[in-house]
Amino acid sequence: MSNISKNLVICAFCPNTCRPAIAAQGIQVEAQTPSALALITVAVLQGRIALDDQTRAVLARRDAVNASVGHCTYKLDMPRVLDDALQGLAN
Ligand code: SF4
Repeated sequence: MSNISKNLVICAFCPNTCRPAIAAQGIQVEAQTPSALALITVAVLQGRIALDDQTRAVLARRDAVNASVGHCTYKLDMPRVLDDALQGLAN
């Protein structure tokens, strides 16, 4: 398992321990949490969800993910992890 995939899985199954930091910035959209976007990206990598325009639009909603930077229990930079994963799919 690549480092990108490993970090996606860690985030996908994390109970969003960065949630208080995200909420403190006034962002409370459950479908856009780092964990939610990581789970969707894992499904894309596994071929269970197509990377179509709708999926790309969902994965582009980054307010909560951006707010998690510096507040991740696992010290992950999830915007970068998601970008690296999507970039890998484009190649
Ligand atoms: S960014 Fe870190 S703390 Fe937040 S859900 Fe992902 S792994 Fe958990």
